[in-house]
Amino acid sequence: MIYPIKNNDPALSENAIRLLQSRYLRKGVDGLSLETPDDMFRRVAKAVAQAELSWGGLQEVKQWEDAFYTTMRHLFFLPNSPTLMNAGTTANQLSACFVLPIQDSLENIFDMLKWTALIQQSGGGTGFNFSNLRPKDAYLNKTSGTASGPLSFIKIFDAATEYIKQGGKRRGANMGILSITHPDIEVFITSKQSNGVLRNFNLSVDITDDFMKAVENDLSWQLVHPMSQQGERKIAARTLWDLIAQCTWASGDPGLLFLDTINKYNPTPSIGLIDSTNPCGEVPLLPYESCTLGSLNLPKFILNTKSSREFNWNLLTETIKTAIRFLDDCVEINNYPMPEIKKMAYANRKIGLGVMGWADALGMLSIPYDSEEAVKLAERLMKFIQEQSHETSRHLADQRGAFNNWKDSIYAPDYPIRNATCTSIAPTGSISIIANTSASIEPWFGLAYQRKHVLNDETLPEINSVLKEHFQTYYPESHAILEEILLSGSLKNLALPTETRRLFKTSLEIAPIWHIRHQAAFQHFTDNAVSKTINIPESSSVADIKELYWTAWKMQLKGVTIFRDKCKPSPISQGLSAH
Ligand code: ADP
Repeated sequence: MIYPIKNNDPALSENAIRLLQSRYLRKGVDGLSLETPDDMFRRVAKAVAQAELSWGGLQEVKQWEDAFYTTMRHLFFLPNSPTLMNAGTTANQLSACFVLPIQDSLENIFDMLKWTALIQQSGGGTGFNFSNLRPKDAYLNKTSGTASGPLSFIKIFDAATEYIKQGGKRRGANMGILSITHPDIEVFITSKQSNGVLRNFNLSVDITDDFMKAVENDLSWQLVHPMSQQGERKIAARTLWDLIAQCTWASGDPGLLFLDTINKYNPTPSIGLIDSTNPCGEVPLLPYESCTLGSLNLPKFILNTKSSREFNWNLLTETIKTAIRFLDDCVEINNYPMPEIKKMAYANRKIGLGVMGWADALGMLSIPYDSEEAVKLAERLMKFIQEQSHETSRHLADQRGAFNNWKDSIYAPDYPIRNATCTSIAPTGSISIIANTSASIEPWFGLAYQRKHVLNDETLPEINSVLKEHFQTYYPESHAILEEILLSGSLKNLALPTETRRLFKTSLEIAPIWHIRHQAAFQHFTDNAVSKTINIPESSSVADIKELYWTAWKMQLKGVTIFRDKCKPSPISQGLSAH
């Protein structure tokens, strides 16, 4: 049953209401919703504002509860799914992202498996670097036997995830990482070549700058035993590079993670090296760190005057202030799944504010995605968001104190700030559906599509709302045109001016370099990282993939995921969402 929209409910799309009903609204034993979407926003606002009691009185609690409620109810800002689902419930676990350390001992591995199960049950995603594990067939002291290698353990984590359905809501997600120097690297690179294997994992190779230089100069590459640090085999760097590109071409996995770049921007290098990210790559984290994310819904900030359309920078500023405070409050009241994670959360207070609806916003501004103007605007916008986020976090530091590790951070001694990181661009797979906007910074994937509902397989026809508005405004025959688009899903058979065609290009019609350039534009002003899928046409070659990987490294991206059309049913980052 669809919850009837009442006059005072937020303007939610039918898809949003369906999704909220199936996964977010609290339910009774009979399976019926105990709350409306409006109640959900109130529940979340109320729970998160309780944090204000640590520094203020009841008046502040009420004031911020109302501010949080309003910003979510108007869909200006939404926190990541676990916050919407769990805040104010007995679970009260609010973070989407976690990283756990994997050590070379059976005891540690199975301890981490247990914590992974508990984190995933609470709605979080987990990332691991498996490079500390000794390679397959290495000698084991205790049993005089031989080791089974990182891949066998990745399979165990994958199998566990398969059976942990988060409160009947969605299956968990993982990131698995292996160093380019690990002796089992070829097995890792090729491990997702068959359909359905390790389907609960995104895999990324941890690539160093030295490796890229070895590829550039066609040198041989030394594989190293992770325990003894002794050299094992040598292999031509270009042989490994070819293998990675071929596997990406065939299956979309593995992706690359540039840990040297990540650590160049590590805010607390003296606390430790970062060697992992969360499942979709937007948050590099130290062992036991977690992060709560939230996203600004960009189309809501577009001022529509007669002469021009622009961002409403004032409303953006106000919303950023509220959102950063909201996320810092989440750090305070979060019910952390394990004591080590709680300790790290208080020590660094990492949060990640990002954006969704970038393609819709560009469409509303009549700026094509594949244009210099779009890339410039991306930089200007994200620079603004980052500056305002830091400004707010500094203000919070005045009132509440800087994060505990601040003295050992890159910000000390002159820049007291409350949060070690403030910004991050998440995929917004589900929350963009709730906000009824395009996902993250991705271009449109289609203009009209059947959206298959994850839980009940029901399909719903849907047309891109920006396109609809554009045609209704500029074309007298819009009804017939929209019918045609709904049927064919494209503008192909329609006689339209070039500018209109250019404006409504979809993901695969946009040259891949523009995908990378948008990722770079946002990355350069993002504390954490950017989750982005570089969607490329089916006809792309292995050489194209190498070229894109190379460009991504040169442009100082922190990671890169390429997906060649039709090489597999769908990549996990898209499969995670309700598309
Ligand atoms: P949402 O739109 O639901 O808030 P995103 O698509 O933006 O989520 O993903 C943000 C992060 O949430 C991911 O990088 C991952 O860490 C986590 N996440 C997403 N989907 C899942 C899932 N099915 N299980 C566990 N964690 C997930």
